Amino acid sequence: SVQFSQVIQNLINSETHAPLTNFINNEFVPTANHLDSVNPATGKAWIKIPNSTKTDVEKAVEAAKEAFKTWKNTSVNQRSKLLQKLADLIEEFNDDLAILESRDQGKTVNLARVMDIPRCVQNFRDFATAAKHQTSTSTILEEPVKAINYVKYDPIGVAGLISPWNLPLYLLSFKIAPALAAGNTIVCKPSELTSVTAWVLMHAIKLVGFPPGVVNMVIGEGSSAGQSLVDHPDVPIISFTGSTLIGKKIQESAAKLNKKVSLEMGGKNGAIVYSDFDWNDLSTIVRSAFLNQGEICLCTSRLFVERNIYEEFVGKFVAEAKKYTVGDPTSNVNLGAMNSKIHFEKVKSYIETVTEQGGKIHCGGVQLLDGEFKNGYFIAPTVITDLADNSKCMTDEIFGPVVCITPFDKDDEAIERVNSTPYGLSATVWSRDSKRLLNTANELRVGTVWCNTWLTRDLGMPFGGCKQSGLGREGVHDSLHFYADAKTVCVKL
Ligand code: NAD
Repeated sequence: SVQFSQVIQNLINSETHAPLTNFINNEFVPTANHLDSVNPATGKAWIKIPNSTKTDVEKAVEAAKEAFKTWKNTSVNQRSKLLQKLADLIEEFNDDLAILESRDQGKTVNLARVMDIPRCVQNFRDFATAAKHQTSTSTILEEPVKAINYVKYDPIGVAGLISPWNLPLYLLSFKIAPALAAGNTIVCKPSELTSVTAWVLMHAIKLVGFPPGVVNMVIGEGSSAGQSLVDHPDVPIISFTGSTLIGKKIQESAAKLNKKVSLEMGGKNGAIVYSDFDWNDLSTIVRSAFLNQGEICLCTSRLFVERNIYEEFVGKFVAEAKKYTVGDPTSNVNLGAMNSKIHFEKVKSYIETVTEQGGKIHCGGVQLLDGEFKNGYFIAPTVITDLADNSKCMTDEIFGPVVCITPFDKDDEAIERVNSTPYGLSATVWSRDSKRLLNTANELRVGTVWCNTWLTRDLGMPFGGCKQSGLGREGVHDSLHFYADAKTVCVKL
């Protein structure tokens, strides 16, 4: 772990760090072309990362294909032990990794320390143990012949794992852990906007003793590295988390070779606040709109509030939002920077449509800072009212600290309006009446409904989206099944 510490410290103190590399066959392989990775809080490039080509991807897939021949036959115990060791090593360096995640992504160090890195550790632990306790179905057949059937879960081969920039290590490890636990080898491609902690993870993979070729990583743009991975004929399974636009494109490409695909995509999550809700939950509702700068696919972006408490709710919500501090992500603030200039401009452009569409902005907008953060991408919690349901801010995924609040009169009306989007990722419902909560949860067309809570996750439960938000589910059982082919074996007795 001294070696691992050195890798991390070199990055933390990086003034002139060498460009990052790909990771193939347990070697750190340099590439010909590079991209800048920008620190969103300063707007300055802080390190160079590979921009991999089709040829780089081919080398990684070749290594993974070769390693699969032996890795698929390793015992679950052996895979589990390696994943546990990996979890231990990451956990030991939790706080240092949080610094790097913040610098690369823009989120606060405090949040990465308590959310992103611990969840990465949990991903490796949960799948390390779950794989050992997997059971399978069996039946005894009486007619036409006596036979026993049982199901065997076979690893599939080289898994292509593609992840986004909002929760970099958190979401990538949620794919790596089950893919390996199930006996596949992998080629992963983190977002080109946040590849640094993934590169550090590859050092950990090598140090804890994963055999060469089992885990490989190519870094670079989606249109080249990502697309080459999706199109590669020797990658039969693709797991993707990102936007709906790219997810659908990947599904189209993957269909040509009948690949198994899992897609976790965008959302436009609604919250229903009934007048009998517990006002003590207000701070959680505010948090659900703004955590991680609103850059969580599960953040609330449309709030439907029962009319008899609407005015009071808006007043108190805005007051809470105004308490949020925005600034240097390494300091004790609530929100850091938006992930990139392009994304910052996108969020800003949505806020600029509000007044012309008849809406009212109560607080928020671009936040200007001084000194070293003068060119950073900061947006303060933005609360909007008086917009029609079909306005751009109410229909499009903004993916920033922006929330629209609107009143409703009847339960059915609120449910219909929450469901009236092409997305179907998650929703929240707030009430002290359990019957009302359950009736509403029953009617919502989303993958997850939280009642009087938000972002409370049991990894054993299925996670994913309906409609345009996704295809398939991730979670302890669902992921282990996704990364395997179920084979029924029938033996005549
Ligand atoms: P994105 O779709 O732009 O990129 C995601 C990943 O796909 C990146 O690694 C990118 O390089 C890669 N990619 C891009 N084009 C590709 C191509 N043609 N072939 C293969 N790979 C390609 O998404 P993003 O902007 O990085 O992330 C934000 C989006 O992710 C939001 O829409 C958000 O809702 C969604 N998201 C969803 C979940 C979920 O669980 N449903 C979780 C987090 C984020």
